[in-house]
Amino acid sequence: MNLDYIRALDRYPAYVYDLRGLADHTRDIRSALGATELFYAAKANPDAEILRAIAPHVDGVEVSSGGELTHVRDVLPQARIAFGGPGKTDEELALALALDVDRIHVESPHELARLAALGPADVLLRANLPITTPNAVLSMSGPFGMDEDALTDCARHLAGTPHLRLRGVHAHLASGLDASTMADLARKITDWALPWLRALDVADPEVNIGGGMAVDYAEPDARFDWHAYGAALPQGTLRVEPGRAITAYHGWYVTDVLDVKTTRGETFVVLRGGTHHLRTPAAKGHDQPFTVLTRPHGTTMTATLVGQLCTPKDVLARNVPVPPLAPGDVLAFTMAGAYAWNISHQNFLMHPPPTFHYLS
Ligand SMILES: *Cc1c(COP(=O)(O)O)cnc(C)c1O
Repeated sequence: MNLDYIRALDRYPAYVYDLRGLADHTRDIRSALGATELFYAAKANPDAEILRAIAPHVDGVEVSSGGELTHVRDVLPQARIAFGGPGKTDEELALALALDVDRIHVESPHELARLAALGPADVLLRANLPITTPNAVLSMSGPFGMDEDALTDCARHLAGTPHLRLRGVHAHLASGLDASTMADLARKITDWALPWLRALDVADPEVNIGGGMAVDYAEPDARFDWHAYGAALPQGTLRVEPGRAITAYHGWYVTDVLDVKTTRGETFVVLRGGTHHLRTPAAKGHDQPFTVLTRPHGTTMTATLVGQLCTPKDVLARNVPVPPLAPGDVLAFTMAGAYAWNISHQNFLMHPPPTFHYLS
């Protein structure tokens, strides 16, 4: 990361994306995966420059709405696209056919029937399998995908609709898992999915095992071990679709200190901007990692880093050690490249938006 560039910015807050680092990282992931296909989950960060930096190093992009689909097709006209997500409307399904998506991940028997009425498509059925994942941060049960009964309904329906080609199964079951747990999960999915698909005479059955590779905000240097994961994946035509673990490390939210105050014994550093620009720590309940770019001298203190919003929830990091900060000091919140700007309630309080910078 080019710190001189960041220090020279004339206005804060700013998002700075390291496109070269992102491209290198994505290339490494791609090579670690061997024959397994890599799709990028656009919802992690659909920024056009980010998509263009990633595109040469992935096999495709996964989108979860008509809006993402239109945007990704516009930015990457040649990309293979997989269209997933619950609650697809007829308009979105028709758009998927018009924009020539590669795969549609079907979420329910009703969705399959509506798709059948629209035209030919290559589909994966999204499975919600009874596989337990004890250490998952987020378990994707509930409304996502189908149990065995609904999958069997779909298979029966597909037997009568030859224009819908069943290509395989999609299962995004959990997130926040390390490489060996994730590879175990992949094996459990394929152990169920491949025999099920072969029994339906699906030629060269595909299994999309989803995303959710762990990103540890408390340990920024602890990275998901893509090489161990790639080596441990089961045989077969596999596809993964990570988002966070691709882009998280390549975005910075940079801003300056407006005020420092101590109230009833607690010290607050008030920053320009806040969680309406970087909602990640509020959404996930963690302290966003950061570095101080200016060089304040003196003993370390403990402070809570807050933004400009009129709510006690506008906390970026709570009771963290910081150098003796003063107005004008500049901080860069790291790991702000995924589920950051695009999941934030950007218009709340109508402060000016951040500027965006791309290092290549
Ligand atoms: C969100 C999502 C992903 C990406 O998850 P990450 O945690 O960002 O890797 C992949 N597939 C599906 C179906 C998703 O909903």
